[in-house]
Order: sequence, then C-alpha cells, then structure tokens
Amino acid sequence: MELCFWGTRGSIATPGPSTIRYGGNTSCVEVMTKSGQRFIFDAGTGARPLGAHLMAHAAKPIRATILLSHTHWDHIQGFPFFIPLFVPGNRFTVCGPHGSNSSLPDVLSGQMEYTYFPVELSQLGAEIKYRDLNEGSEEIDGIRITAHSLNHPARALGYRLEADGASLLYLCDHEPYWESLWHSEAEAGKVESILHEGDRRHAEFMQNADVVIHDAQYTPEEYPAKKNWGHSTWAYVTRIAAAANVKHLFLTHHDPTHDDAFLDGIEAQARELAAQLGSPLQVSCAREGFRATFENEPEDRAKVNEVVMVAEATKESLTVLIVDDDEDLRVLARKALTRAGYGVIEAEDGATGLAMLRTNHPDLLLLDINMPGLDGFEVLRLIRENAETADLPVIVLTAQGDEESAKRSFEQGATDFLAKPFSPPQLDARVRSGFTRARRQLLTR
Ligand SMILES: [Zn+2]
Ligand SMILES: [Zn+2]
Repeated sequence: MELCFWGTRGSIATPGPSTIRYGGNTSCVEVMTKSGQRFIFDAGTGARPLGAHLMAHAAKPIRATILLSHTHWDHIQGFPFFIPLFVPGNRFTVCGPHGSNSSLPDVLSGQMEYTYFPVELSQLGAEIKYRDLNEGSEEIDGIRITAHSLNHPARALGYRLEADGASLLYLCDHEPYWESLWHSEAEAGKVESILHEGDRRHAEFMQNADVVIHDAQYTPEEYPAKKNWGHSTWAYVTRIAAAANVKHLFLTHHDPTHDDAFLDGIEAQARELAAQLGSPLQVSCAREGFRATFENEPEDRAKVNEVVMVAEATKESLTVLIVDDDEDLRVLARKALTRAGYGVIEAEDGATGLAMLRTNHPDLLLLDINMPGLDGFEVLRLIRENAETADLPVIVLTAQGDEESAKRSFEQGATDFLAKPFSPPQLDARVRSGFTRARRQLLTR
C-alpha cells in the first residue's frame, strides 16, 4: 500500500514560512492499495490539494472510501473543497462514527449550510453514500478495516487497515486514558504492565502494526495545561507504540504553535526515547507531501483478529444509573446524558443504587468510589458476584486520580475508570464506548 500525507496539522490550518517542511494543512491521509482501492483518512484542509491531485492524475471516474475519525472541524473542513465530490460519475463512501446528536450527513451538511458555504451537500454531483461505523471490523472493497474507540471529548474512531500483507493504523484524535502508562510495581515497557484498561486496549489495537499514524499534539511539558482536551504527547505515543511492537510510527496532528524547528526537536527526542527503550521502532514527525510504500508477504488470514461489527446502539432505549453522593456531579452527568438521548436514573448511595439495579434494570452504571455506607468498590464487588449484573458495563468515577484506585477498580471488573473533573462530551463518548464494548462481548460469546 502507498501512504501519502496531505495534512498533518491539528486544530487549525497553519500555513506560512515557519511550517513549510511539516506542512500547514489539517488532517488528511491517503492510502492506495496495490489493487487500486483508495482510502482517505479524514478530510481536513489537506483534502483540497488531494482533490486537485486526483482530478489531475487519478484514473476516472474517481472512487474512494473516506474514513472520518470524528467530525471536529479540523477533520472535515476540507470536505466541501474536495473537488472530486462535484463531478458526476465519481463515487464515494463516507464512513465515520455517529455524531453526538446527529447523523454523519447531517453534521457534514451543517457546515455547508448557506450561512457558511455557497453550495449545499445535496448539490454535489458525485454519488455519495454514508455509513455510521462502530467498533469492530468488516471488509470494505475486499480490504479489512477495523474500527476502535479513541479517548477524545467527542465520539472518535481509530482505524486499522490490512492490505498487501501490511497493517496501517490511523489514530487521531486520542488522549491517554491515564496519566501514568505503567503500573508502578510492574515492569515498564510491556503491554501487560499498562495500568488503565483503555490504554491497554489501545496498545493491543496497534500490536505488531507496520505503520501507526498517531495524534501527538503536545510535549509532556505542555500536557498538564491541556489535559482533557483529547490529545497525546509524543512521549506517550512513542512508549505505547514501542510496547506494542510497532515498526513505523508517524507522529501527527502537530500543534499550530509548533513550527518546523520545534518539530525537528520533537522528532529527535522521540527517536532518542525509542533508542533508550531498546526498541527498533522508527519514529518520524509526519510531513505533508511525504509518500512511502509498505507491503509484506501475504499474511495468514487466520492471524487477523475476527471481530464482528456491531450496529450502533439506539440510544433512546438505553438507561444509565448514576450512583454518587455528590449532587453537583449527578446534575452535571444527568444533563450531559439526557442531552445525548439516554434515560437517566439516580441514587445517592450504594445501597439505594443496588436496589435500583434490581428494580429498574439500567443498561450502564456510573459509580462513584467514595460514598458514605457502601463504597463504590463494595458495590462493584456485589454487582460482579450477581449473575444477573455480572456483565453490566460499569464506569467508575473518582475524585482521586491515584493508581491504587484505578488498579483496584479494574481488578474488581470495572469497564472504565474516569477521573473528575470531566466534560459533558467526554462523559458521552466514554458511555457510548462502554455500551459498544458490552454489546460486542455479548455477541462474540
Ligand atoms: Zn483534531
Ligand atoms: Zn478532535
């Protein structure tokens, strides 16, 4: 497969003399398989030069699958400027996660209303199909694509593409689930030593990949001030990719304030870290215009993880129980989840929560740890002991971001672990991925 970067910038396009080498266009990556299938990851402003290139050089009619990670501006702003969409006869399938409150075509047409743009989505000449994706894998044009939830304050999907004997992952935008990657008493550098289940799943998703293209917007020094904004540091990405035995890592979604000289520095530090870790990982900062080909001997198909695709859960029918003695938190969570379309019920202590589980049968539980009476750990233990609630997705909420609470929660069967404070879209994204995982476990059992 041939890879080409058309946009490597995060947040907002940053053209100018200081970003000439790494590029100023926002996220857009093209992958072309040997058999001629074209995949486009994200449609940031880099989609405009890609479109012009395809009009000039690609075989006609133009066909492609556009895989959107999510619908934040920097990942869709180039869509209305992608000229092949205006040409009758061209065919595109646009795939992405269902937006928070509306479907993919609704979100894309929203930015093309006359207030913002002179041409409406329905006036584009090409044939465009839309597909809402969820975690899981499927074949698109004979190529295996697997989608995986990322940690971002919006529903975002990462993609793994397997073709020509090689595997390539596109993982934007993503933030570490937990500040420290490793259990303090475990041997650092191994996937098994990862503290938070979310980070471990993230590492497993990229395991043994030939190419990983990953959000690395911040430096470790910048991160504390940008926590919960949904992005990674180059150090987290380098460590997790080395643990996952990745071959080539491209750091991307460069911060708009990082000029070429600064990115040279990040690349050098990331390479030094990989060397210190004794990893053969090859790290580069993604550069606009970079092209490379990756292929291996055809893989044994049996080795590819078979995961069934799960239909997006219909949110209207799902109920979330919040068990927390902090009324402010219950109000915040109720507002966020009600707006996202869930039914919400509440309990202010563990015993009431357990009683509501038996009578109301909620589909997911948000559980505080520190409560008077039964604490969250005790409630979680009782839930897992009971056959009826053993599979219930439980997201543990905590004011303490300590390792011991995280470790104990996962040992007792928590689905996810989220430290306060969190933003409403962050909570919505984590609740959605909790539901998805629970449904998939049921289907694959
Ligand atoms: Zn972004
Ligand atoms: Zn984003």
